[in-house]
Amino acid sequence: MTRRKKIYEGKAKILYEGPEPGTLIQYFKDDASAFNDQKKAVLEGKGVINNRISEYVMTKLNIIGIHNHLIKRMNLREQLIREVEMIPLKVVCRNIAAGSLATRFGLPEGQVLPRSILEFHYKDDKLNSPVVTEEHITAFNWATTQEIDDMMAMTLRINDFLSGLFSAVNITLVDFKIEYGRVFENDFARIILADEISPDSCRLWDSTTNEKLDKDRFRRDMGSVIESYTEVARRLGIMQEMPTVIQGGKV
Ligand code: UDP
Repeated sequence: MTRRKKIYEGKAKILYEGPEPGTLIQYFKDDASAFNDQKKAVLEGKGVINNRISEYVMTKLNIIGIHNHLIKRMNLREQLIREVEMIPLKVVCRNIAAGSLATRFGLPEGQVLPRSILEFHYKDDKLNSPVVTEEHITAFNWATTQEIDDMMAMTLRINDFLSGLFSAVNITLVDFKIEYGRVFENDFARIILADEISPDSCRLWDSTTNEKLDKDRFRRDMGSVIESYTEVARRLGIMQEMPTVIQGGKV
């Protein structure tokens, strides 16, 4: 038996070489980290839930024409994905003030924003992923002006779609972070959505009580992290496929 080749290991996921050229396997770990890795924990079952939630969301996005890297979920923790050239940016979309936006501008958390706000952050944990503008992005060749426009248009569409998807199950999409990559087709490069969309990368509040159902529960030591992620999956109607250990909330 040969050991498969690890391409990259991040904080919450590992990428392995895929079965065919141009493919990779994305493995979801149980590891949680926050504040530039200063806070770490293993949350048993998180990888399984995020793998399923991300598959569900990416599949729905694909149906409405938002192309993404997901080919198929393979098992509880792994997805087969398209290999892309990652753009080193975190694209953040916000509907309600929270987290670093609330801190930066002194806004009360929970204040509805006058319109959805998009931000680009340069993806570098050592630098605390600073906010960057189009000037930085084009000057440092992280992406072209056309690619920036494409990412902005896609992110706003994703925001509209996901806001509706979550709102239908009484969850408010406060903000989220996504990442994009390039795929090359003949002489052309195209941007597609990559990475993951899960309670690790979104702020999700119960629409009635504003209870947090996302990674802030871990960041802020609020407890019941897995129970909240499980609740998101349950409301999305995808809990019945989960292993019984997670279904019982005892992981
Ligand atoms: N986010 C993320 N990964 C990061 C930084 C942020 O998934 O490395 C998500 C975060 O969960 C939230 C949104 O992006 O849904 C906006 O995060 P913010 O800038 O407020 O930063 P934070 O308060 O998480 O430091």
